[in-house]
Amino acid sequence: MISKETIEEILARTDIEPLISSYVNLKRAGDTYKGLCPFHSEKSPSFTVYPRTSSFYCFGCGIGGDAVTFIKQMEHLDYPDALEFLAKRAGITIVDNDKPLREEKKFNRDRMFKMNADAANFFHRCLMANTDAAKSALSYFTEKRGLSLSTIRHFGLGYAPDTFDSLLNYMRSKGYSYDELVAGFLCGKSEKGKYYDAFRNRVMFPIIDVSGNVIAFGGRAMDNETKPKYKNSSDTPVYKKTRHVYALNFARHTCSEQLILCEGYMDVIALHAAGFTNAIATLGTAITSDQARLMSRYTKKVVICYDSDEAGQKAANKALKVIGDTGLDVGVIVVPGSKDPDEYIKTFGKEKFAEVLEGAKIEFEYKMDNILAKFDLNLPQDRVKVVAMLENEISRVYSEAEREVYVQLVSKATGIEAKSIKADVERIIQKNKRSYKATEGLKARQSAAGYADKVNPDFAKAPAIARHEETILALLLLFAEHRKTVFEKAILTEDNFFTEFNKKVFNYVKDAYTGGDVFPNLNETFTPEEIGRITKIKNERMALANNGDDVLFESINALKSSMEKKNAEGATTFDQLAELIKKMRSDSSGS
Ligand SMILES: [Zn+2]
Repeated sequence: MISKETIEEILARTDIEPLISSYVNLKRAGDTYKGLCPFHSEKSPSFTVYPRTSSFYCFGCGIGGDAVTFIKQMEHLDYPDALEFLAKRAGITIVDNDKPLREEKKFNRDRMFKMNADAANFFHRCLMANTDAAKSALSYFTEKRGLSLSTIRHFGLGYAPDTFDSLLNYMRSKGYSYDELVAGFLCGKSEKGKYYDAFRNRVMFPIIDVSGNVIAFGGRAMDNETKPKYKNSSDTPVYKKTRHVYALNFARHTCSEQLILCEGYMDVIALHAAGFTNAIATLGTAITSDQARLMSRYTKKVVICYDSDEAGQKAANKALKVIGDTGLDVGVIVVPGSKDPDEYIKTFGKEKFAEVLEGAKIEFEYKMDNILAKFDLNLPQDRVKVVAMLENEISRVYSEAEREVYVQLVSKATGIEAKSIKADVERIIQKNKRSYKATEGLKARQSAAGYADKVNPDFAKAPAIARHEETILALLLLFAEHRKTVFEKAILTEDNFFTEFNKKVFNYVKDAYTGGDVFPNLNETFTPEEIGRITKIKNERMALANNGDDVLFESINALKSSMEKKNAEGATTFDQLAELIKKMRSDSSGS
């Protein structure tokens, strides 16, 4: 276990605002900072950072907590690894007595990175070897794909020989166990229990994360007969294909203005070789919102450059939505007269590609052109339809200035006066607002009936009592003095609590106190949604700070008397009767 002192030191040396700023674009708003939530897709910021309590809370998805909670969620780490991550960042060496134990249970990340790096080196040496097979693999890159040796070295490209055990033998000689090799998707195991190389007779592309670790591989067949054409690592303890992006480790240095998103790694390499070092690709999957949010940490705009065939354009349409939902600007280019950007650059040169890139259509233009292509503007009924569809699109745009630009574009394309388009859009926005309010009202009623509150479903059964509980918990969490008063004099026990969730939090804080924890650490026990709720409870009551013991005692008295009143109502409700019967049954069966 990592010692309490170390945990406190890590938290003390971690300023939450700069930490979160390295992932989320934050804007100051009074005492707090606001930004787009990295944990759910949104277009207007509801993610809030509170430097005063070193916490964050998202009003959209309910996730919140401290620096550790944030890193756990953001880097997909477990609790001890999140602490280690923050310790490294703060320059603290931590002694974790349980570490060998923990490492036994799961695969050691650093060792897996080392294993992958060793495999990448092996593949690269196989490519450069003086054999006929190696020479033909190398000529696939140099002649068929026109790559220079320096590009090949830059991307660490390699070759997996056409055998069942070359990599296996090499890695075994380096001391890696069969289990590790299988877990890292470098080897497979047959039904008869025989181990074999996962990649055979393929050119190899190491996949590297933004910190420079080799995390996985993509293997491509060199002819058109071999199936599958692409074989990529499945998910491993250090690699999730829906979360990583190819070549972002290079692109991150030159992509602050824009990223070029391609379909495959050959496109990316061709673009980098031609000087477009801000090109990336997803890895054999349609783009996910995790990947889009990863991109949004490094850039303002993504230009999608997928294959020009129908499948590619369909995928581009999907990507447009996923990326747009993260709040990034999105553009689309279609390379005219070529299959993909690789072929385009080879045929027309990089200057021409730069021109295509320059003329990237913004998201709205691309959508508009797609709609326009489906209708005949000379037919009045088509014209009405087109304008209505485009007005709907515009009404979804958040910024007024942007809407203005699109109104002009539509006016120009359809010949309808900008003034009337604008009036229509305004009407749609007002209508949407009204229906939004109506659904919000419904949500509020549902949550009052206890539906939507997943964290504390009892809240709605007795909101007044639950609020007293929350105030008490907030004060206990905020002030060590209050913890001392309440726990040492035992003026409050779990029986005073009505809602199960608040009771759980109370017991947790109490156990932490009696166990000698100065600062109760929630990250071990509670989910991010639960920690979010606790953070919200705390932050909402920060203003109670200067009131000494008064508020605490008032709240405790109020809680006790409302609970007495509630209990005095007697076991008359159906719920309580059912509970009573259940208890009687379990008592009699237990004896
Ligand atoms: Zn959120």
